[in-house]
Amino acid sequence: MTELKPLFNFDQLPAKTTNSNGLTGMDVISVDQFDPDKLAYIFARAREMREMVRRVGGTDLLKGYVLACLFYEPSTRTSSSFIAAMERLGGSIIPITQGVKFSSVSKGETLADTVRTLEQYADAVVLRHPEIGSAKLAADYASVPVLNAGDGPGEHPTQALLDLFTIREELGQIEGLKIAMIGDLKNGRTVQSLTKLLLHFDVSLRFVSPEILRLPLKTMNQVIDAGIDARETHDVADVIDNADVLYVTRVQKERFADLAQYEQVKDYYEITADLMAKAKEKMIVMHPLPRVGEIHYNVDADPRAAYFRQVQNGMFIRMALLAAVLGQA
Ligand code: ASP
Repeated sequence: MTELKPLFNFDQLPAKTTNSNGLTGMDVISVDQFDPDKLAYIFARAREMREMVRRVGGTDLLKGYVLACLFYEPSTRTSSSFIAAMERLGGSIIPITQGVKFSSVSKGETLADTVRTLEQYADAVVLRHPEIGSAKLAADYASVPVLNAGDGPGEHPTQALLDLFTIREELGQIEGLKIAMIGDLKNGRTVQSLTKLLLHFDVSLRFVSPEILRLPLKTMNQVIDAGIDARETHDVADVIDNADVLYVTRVQKERFADLAQYEQVKDYYEITADLMAKAKEKMIVMHPLPRVGEIHYNVDADPRAAYFRQVQNGMFIRMALLAAVLGQA
């Protein structure tokens, strides 16, 4: 064989470096991992990402990095925002968001093997899976960071980060706010995660749901232990005039064993323009989306309707998180 001309001059290739920011290499499994310092750090980075996107659209901060997106449950916003985040930072993705049959990986062993395969190609893995604890299990096996994009009715930490960021950016503060969570508080993972994150702040919480969809006792006990002013009600009328934030959620049809029960509660709430006439002038309506009838389209033109701005914040937050866990922020 003739002598090969080297493809690379390794002396001239920049070495791969990582910063130590307290988040480098971290799995993102639960909001319990985020204290106010980490939140402030991620929010500051997300603001930088927002500014960068507005000015130039993208950068090469994560050039050479690959993210595997492994979704065993449907997703529109979470999957596409992770993809957009990675691409705006110059990285690439392995999208496994379609055609995955979770029945074939419902045993931990198989999920572990899938993740251990993907980490051979990728620097981090985003995982959505129908079982509580799946992200933790995957992280136990993977040596690259695993980011929980929803583990069944368990947690959705990156959604909670973007929700809290939205509250902060829209209303200028978190302390002192009156926040009402409405809808399926039992099965909504975004509700569990956001509620826990809010316990770091001096807020009052109102939980509005039909009886069978009340906030789980475990989360409620955490609220009580944190000394938060909290009350439960069935009626939006009890909270509408006072709330700074209405956090509306859909009834999670896929979590019901008995669909007749779902039918009974699916149309329990609808936020309409008439109802919004009773709300404060400075307040916001949020929704993790998709909505399936909980917010009437006649609310969309109201400047207080923040749900699509909330969607965009998801990309900035995920850009900040990816840069941080990959040691580039
Ligand atoms: N998109 C959110 C989630 O994945 C909210 C929802 O599906 O209702 O949890």
